[in-house]
Amino acid sequence: MTADRAAEIAANLAEVRDRITAACAAVGRDPAEVRLLAVTKTFPAADAAALVDLGVLDLAENREQEADPKTDELARLRPGAAVRWHMVGRLQRNKARAVARWAAEVQSVDSERLADALDRAAATARAAGERDGPLDVLLQASIDGDPARGGCPLDGLPALAHRVIRSSDLRLRGIMAVAPRGAEPRAAFERLASAAVRLRAEHPSAAELSCGMSNDLEEAIEYGSTCVRVGTALLGGRGLASP
Ligand SMILES: *Cc1c(COP(=O)(O)O)cnc(C)c1O
Repeated sequence: MTADRAAEIAANLAEVRDRITAACAAVGRDPAEVRLLAVTKTFPAADAAALVDLGVLDLAENREQEADPKTDELARLRPGAAVRWHMVGRLQRNKARAVARWAAEVQSVDSERLADALDRAAATARAAGERDGPLDVLLQASIDGDPARGGCPLDGLPALAHRVIRSSDLRLRGIMAVAPRGAEPRAAFERLASAAVRLRAEHPSAAELSCGMSNDLEEAIEYGSTCVRVGTALLGGRGLASP
């Protein structure tokens, strides 16, 4: 980690925080209601450490294989830091056990089978002393119903929520979604926001609405996002080949 890189990340963070503050001000919201999740995928643990030094403790990854070593390395670089790692990418059931070791929260729960696998995995991890609490989960909603991008269709959310509520080691915290590619995000965020209101009416603990990324965080905040997931605007571009 060079001093230049640390300064670059600090400047990017200040800019992202300004954008969040301005977006909140535009719609009369309190910026304290919007959590910033720094997406560190494709970037080294040293960059994650720089974010931790700047007070960003909510970090996210989208692939288990990449996250596993990076979370360990950050723990060595910044021992004792109160970091909370979030899984935000598509997750296969056979990776549930590994994710339950390092993740405080999984935002990409999109099927009852995955919820069951994570529930068992979190229970096993707890019994093994690898985690000390339940696993927070967000239901990943598919706003446009495109199965290629993961997510549960909006009309499937009540059943999925019910499954999570009945589990022993999962805690339902809300909904996550990615805006459909290439479309104006407002219409999508509006549909998502009404799904979030319905879920919250039935499950008051499911208060989190995770939407908005580097390119659309203002629109997401306008429609009630409580968690923006930002990679590029904090750490830079990932290049064409990266996920
Ligand atoms: C990569 C990623 C992000 C961050 O995207 P940026 O455009 O780089 O800010 C957010 N959410 C998910 C699920 C991601 O995979």
